Amino acid sequence: MREQLVKHKDKIYDGTNRCTSITVHETANTSKGADAQAHANLQSSGNVRQASWHITVDDTEAIRSYPDTAQCWHGGTREAAESSIAVEICVNEDGDYDKAFALAGRVVRELRRKHGIQRNKVYDHAHWTGKDCPSRMRAAGRWKEFLDLTEPNQKEKPVGMISPFEGRLTGHHNDRGGYPEHKGLDVAPPKPGQVGMPVYAAFGGIIRVLHRTAKPGNLKSTWAKGRTGNGMLVSNPDGEGNGYNHMRPLDHFKVGDKVVAGQLLGYNDRSGNQTGPHVHFEMLEDWKNEDSDYAPELAFEKFKIKIGSAPERTSIAPVKPADSGSKPSTKSSVPADVKKKLKAMGYKNPGTGDVEKYQAWHGLYPDGDWGSKTEAKYQEVVRAQNATKKMFGVPDNWASDGYWGGTSKKWAGYTSGRNGWNNPHGYLTKKYINNLKKVGAW
Ligand SMILES: [Zn+2]
Ligand SMILES: [Zn+2]
Repeated sequence: MREQLVKHKDKIYDGTNRCTSITVHETANTSKGADAQAHANLQSSGNVRQASWHITVDDTEAIRSYPDTAQCWHGGTREAAESSIAVEICVNEDGDYDKAFALAGRVVRELRRKHGIQRNKVYDHAHWTGKDCPSRMRAAGRWKEFLDLTEPNQKEKPVGMISPFEGRLTGHHNDRGGYPEHKGLDVAPPKPGQVGMPVYAAFGGIIRVLHRTAKPGNLKSTWAKGRTGNGMLVSNPDGEGNGYNHMRPLDHFKVGDKVVAGQLLGYNDRSGNQTGPHVHFEMLEDWKNEDSDYAPELAFEKFKIKIGSAPERTSIAPVKPADSGSKPSTKSSVPADVKKKLKAMGYKNPGTGDVEKYQAWHGLYPDGDWGSKTEAKYQEVVRAQNATKKMFGVPDNWASDGYWGGTSKKWAGYTSGRNGWNNPHGYLTKKYINNLKKVGAW
């Protein structure tokens, strides 16, 4: 698909399109030369109509005018603008409508795959407002034929592996800061604290287990022993399996559904036991055996994919994080006022690591891990997290999401009962709150 992106923002809403459906239109312009290029130009140059759409398709090509995430004015309702991707099919008299119809089917098929959109979420314009659009397709009774074109093509060669999550490698298989039973590897989002970032199927297969009800901090095992948080298990055609944790699967998935590599599976969240938002990814030799895990690093290596690299099929910006916390700073050294605060709390010559240590030792990672069960406790932790963020100004930058600290020595130090603790889960303590009070942050 060719891109001719519209520079101005006069004809779209400000927000991010949720991309949960696709809407098919026809241009209704039968004039000679009213092809995809003419319509793309119309959008670029400041279309006089109060309308906009993402992609125009004619009998020879598809041209993108807006990224999928743009809230284009189409479909006649605000909901359509906020959630649906608009595809316009040209009906110019000097074009071949059947060819445009077929190409639009391929474009929609690719969009469905990219965003994990099911067949029943491919709409015609009439769905939103009853408007007779796409009128030629409707008049000819070809809607079902069109939808069939958007189904995954069984003959397509299955792709290999796709990077499931973009971000930073923060924990290896069998080594999470000295924790030897780590069954997967951890990839934290590009910026510490981000949740709501898209997770893609690393390999194609069949969904075997889905878990959606885990709360933040919940330590209970979910889809298999030792796994916490929301997530899913997918079996691959060769009998292997892939596990995903700390992500909420899309609502429409059910056990038995097929997914293809690179398909959107869901979004990362704060569920389960985590020191900060990250996705835990596993490879199983035998999807039926939860203990047959092997190092996913090997799979990445085999398919020559850098761990944490941008998934191959996401040239568009990901859906805006639902709750990304405060913006990380680019500062790399401790500002003077933060140093002062750390000194007030007993650190002799504070460096950036001290903020992280401070939080770890006080059982308060910037995101996620509090090990509490009640809502009140949770709220208290959130308050403490916010106070901490305010106090240091930049702690997100130093978050230790998904990672307990480089070496097993550090891990040992952390769990040895320093400050009177001996559990790895870091409960919020009175002492921490007192420290916040000491520097006026509580
Ligand atoms: Zn329309
Ligand atoms: Zn993990």
